[in-house]
Amino acid sequence: MRISNLLIPTLREIPAEAEIPSHRLMLRAGFIRKLAAGIYSYLPLGLKTLKKVENIIREEMDRAGAQELLMSALLPAEAYQVSGRWDVFGPAMFRLKDRWGRDFCLGPTHEELFTQTVINEVRSYKEYPMTLYQIQTKYRDEARPRFGVMRSREFIMKDAYSFDRDSAGLDESYKKMYDAYCRIFTRLGLDFTIVDADSGAMGGSGSQEFMVKSPVGEDGIAYCNKCSYAANYEKAVCMPSEKPFPEGDFDIEKVQTPNVHTIDELVAFFNAKPHMFAKTILYKADDKYIAAMVRGDREINEVKLKNLIGCTDDLVLAEPHMVREITKADVGFAGPVGLEIEVIADLEVAQMKNFIIGANETGYHFKNANINKDFTPSRIADIRTIESGDACPRCGAPIETAQGIEVGHIFKLGTKYSDSLGLTYLDENGKSQTVIMGCYGIGVTRCLAAAIEQNYDENGIIWPVSIAPYHVIVMPVNAKEDAQMQAAEKIYENLKAAGIDALLDDRSERPGVKFKDADLIGIPVRIVVGKKIGDGIVEYKLRTENVAVEKTIDRAVSDAIEFVKARL
Ligand code: ATP
Ligand code: MG
Repeated sequence: MRISNLLIPTLREIPAEAEIPSHRLMLRAGFIRKLAAGIYSYLPLGLKTLKKVENIIREEMDRAGAQELLMSALLPAEAYQVSGRWDVFGPAMFRLKDRWGRDFCLGPTHEELFTQTVINEVRSYKEYPMTLYQIQTKYRDEARPRFGVMRSREFIMKDAYSFDRDSAGLDESYKKMYDAYCRIFTRLGLDFTIVDADSGAMGGSGSQEFMVKSPVGEDGIAYCNKCSYAANYEKAVCMPSEKPFPEGDFDIEKVQTPNVHTIDELVAFFNAKPHMFAKTILYKADDKYIAAMVRGDREINEVKLKNLIGCTDDLVLAEPHMVREITKADVGFAGPVGLEIEVIADLEVAQMKNFIIGANETGYHFKNANINKDFTPSRIADIRTIESGDACPRCGAPIETAQGIEVGHIFKLGTKYSDSLGLTYLDENGKSQTVIMGCYGIGVTRCLAAAIEQNYDENGIIWPVSIAPYHVIVMPVNAKEDAQMQAAEKIYENLKAAGIDALLDDRSERPGVKFKDADLIGIPVRIVVGKKIGDGIVEYKLRTENVAVEKTIDRAVSDAIEFVKARL
């Protein structure tokens, strides 16, 4: 493609709304434009990259034996009403009515529709196992759309669903998707980590997420460099750690603590370490209130807590007036003694001795509190968030933590949807059996952003060759010089003839502008045709390297072809 024919509206300014590198660069390099919060258009370069990502995904899904189909994004409400998710999705679902007043939604994910398709179309148990997939636009009215296409309200997902006769079959289908995902993310040039994931209170027997480590990732992941343990924060098993406490058989004692609310203020007031306190936090869980306790130096993991108590909605902090009503004290003085709601304590709380807690009285705390003597939690369980340095639950070595971008998720659904929608089959003996399902998602558009987060520098994007919109950019320093332009055209034609996606920067811009644009849009190989063309010499530079090297024309072309082909 000639750049003079290509819409590449690069921006010199850094768009103010963009907080993270990939978002800034996709806007600056002219890949995407915002239409509304969390809604983007893909301009030509963005679309070209997107198609390459889709093709890699498609090739590997097909190779794994999955069949592609395409469903509507505009979906009638019925299937979601039957499965119960019409309500579960809440405000995250875009809902609309047709002219007859019938309910529709814009599909946030398609488990129900695929299940229904199989109910309608599969005639015999002999057709299982079967895995169906689509690459299609999804809609979620995210509470906080941000970071460009990383978390948007309209995005492209590859969603796949497997259908098996039994759980051994599901294990096999799941493994095939696991292997396909490893190939896909490797080919996309992503450095990824596979973590055990939470499968929610709704059941399901296994779930893993494919995470791209990045400081801008919204998910916490814990991993062990000694064994292969890796899990996201919601799933990571926390081992209680030993800490020193005052030894002795003390009685609980009420202490006046005026104007002391936070752990920091408590630490200063009592001149004690944060681990010598236990925090008591009140939550609203569906229609009741509960209290959760962790050591003062730890954080509660709300997903673990939610799964433990099995509530439907996400937990929310109790409103201040409810804290006052339940504890009879201002916010900041809650404690477990005498509370009439359920108290759930973290495993580590059970190991604490003579510690400090709120007294449920404004301006007071208790010291020398002891579990089972001064209060008895109704449950003791792992409800905290893992931290780096904690013992690995598998081998005991220190855990490391990182932030991750979830690019893919594979999930053993079991019979959740086949039960609710009625997907059964008659086996060889004419007996009715339930179909066992798995579901497998990849955030296609999110992969673009993730690839940039792992591959950029101060000058712009550094695309992995496999998904670069163009592989090689050929650039005459002065497009008005016939010798340079003719040589550049020839190189460009030769590259194209060899199947390389080549760009010809035929604009009569200053060289500085052209160099900047080529770096910004992240083209892996640059061939510059300048004054030495008279001697048949061009400059060859990889986007990943700082210096250009001189090569003969033929050498530059053959090196570029070899470089690209080895990385497709
Ligand atoms: P997240 O935890 O990031 O909200 P999710 O667990 O809700 O994602 P899934 O339902 O598992 O997402 O969807 C499959 C994949 O779709 C995710 O792994 C992610 O890569 C992608 N995805 C989900 N939500 C968005 C979004 N709002 N914008 C872009 N990609 C998304
Ligand atoms: Mg997920």
